[in-house]
Amino acid sequence: MSRSAHPAGPRHADVLPEGHYAAPPTDLNVLDPKVWSQTVARTADGGTTVGGIEVARLAEEFGTPAYFLDEADFRARCAAWRDAFGPDADVFYAGKAFLSRAVVRWLHEEGLNLDVCSGGELATALAAGMPAERIALHGNNKSEEEIERAVAAGVGRIVLDSFQEIVRVAHIADRLGKRQRVQIRVTVGVEAHTHEFIATAHEDQKFGIALAGGQAAEAVRRALKLDGLELIGIHSHIGSQIFDMAGFEVAARRVVGLLAEVRDEHGVELPEIDLGGGLGIAYTSDDDPREPHEIAKALNEIVARECEAAKLRTPRISVEPGRAIVGPTAFTLYTVGTVKPLDGLRTYVSVDGGMSDNIRTALYDAEYTVALVSRRSDAEPVLVRVVGKHCESGDIVVKDAFLPADVAPGDLIAVPATGAYCRSMASNYNHALRPPVVAVRDGEARVIVRRETEEDLLRLDVG
Ligand SMILES: *Cc1c(COP(=O)(O)O)cnc(C)c1O
Repeated sequence: MSRSAHPAGPRHADVLPEGHYAAPPTDLNVLDPKVWSQTVARTADGGTTVGGIEVARLAEEFGTPAYFLDEADFRARCAAWRDAFGPDADVFYAGKAFLSRAVVRWLHEEGLNLDVCSGGELATALAAGMPAERIALHGNNKSEEEIERAVAAGVGRIVLDSFQEIVRVAHIADRLGKRQRVQIRVTVGVEAHTHEFIATAHEDQKFGIALAGGQAAEAVRRALKLDGLELIGIHSHIGSQIFDMAGFEVAARRVVGLLAEVRDEHGVELPEIDLGGGLGIAYTSDDDPREPHEIAKALNEIVARECEAAKLRTPRISVEPGRAIVGPTAFTLYTVGTVKPLDGLRTYVSVDGGMSDNIRTALYDAEYTVALVSRRSDAEPVLVRVVGKHCESGDIVVKDAFLPADVAPGDLIAVPATGAYCRSMASNYNHALRPPVVAVRDGEARVIVRRETEEDLLRLDVG
């Protein structure tokens, strides 16, 4: 990401600290459609709406902090992925990004499949009526109980992550009198991050079975021998928040290489490959994500080319976007509690949530932006850090962004692109009550995950 200290600009230029942040936008009242969900708009009187409803009204009805999820945008993104890949491929939404019963129903209605990676996610998927054959079970250490529930339910595939698991799943399937469709997750020797991929030190992580050293080929050998398993393909997931297709290209080439090896050794052409998820989104105006149709075109071309070279039938492709579907569809709405200008540094704006509703900034140094959404302001931009109310100095929601200098207690500010890995990673630190998720669509708002209450907290505390 090319960031530079903001050049000489508004009055504060002389006191801006060195740092990595984008220059202030020319007009803080404009919301960049790249980072805000589709139906977010500013109103003539300076407010902001989502799904046709004023955020001030939403704050009054549902309180803050709260996540507001733009249902129309979510469905549109599902449809875009589904249509981009077409009927000869499968799109699996990665449930870990954000999962609730309503979301499962939307996915079902929009024709997507669903990845789960725990018993809890599986239970949610099944409770909301996702057909089991459209569910894939992931995870590097699935419990016997989780495997058993998945096999018994009839999930469409289990992605095997270790040698022990090959045997474990086969035994459980045998015991239940089933033949379980499985893929083997391989590590292809590429780890992709935001703007580059790393072709070394990749196997030094907990997921998958290495292609290197013939490990993956050995896993295939073992899986093909077991009656309880129907090996349908190879799986690869190379990282997250990826913008560059080069990492996928290397991954696809290596996975197809394994398919060719398997054909040569066993006379079997495995019918599917899964290229994982990890496609990036715009957290700030500096990010330029690709559209699903560009991604589909690139992946299809890469796989077709590699298969042609290896004289293999092109396998059915699947992909697993999580963040790219739900990430941009939600924002977190906060109420400003205190504003502390630190001379020569920046202004700290404290909100009524924090690392308990968005751990990504503390965990990954993630970048976000923020906007004043309850009113219009023409005050000059000041460099702010949006911080939470937790007892940690690392409790930062937005590290560097600009807000109008007159931002004040009681203002509503919103952080966009918080649909993925925010509510799903939320905690009760400091006995915070996890915020609700409110779905907004066509002038109607409805709670899909309710706010936690102190009663909820005390119910678990049985001492
Ligand atoms: C996390 C994960 C995904 C989704 O990643 P995103 O960055 O949300 O797209 C897909 N597949 C697997 C196996 C994952 O672990």
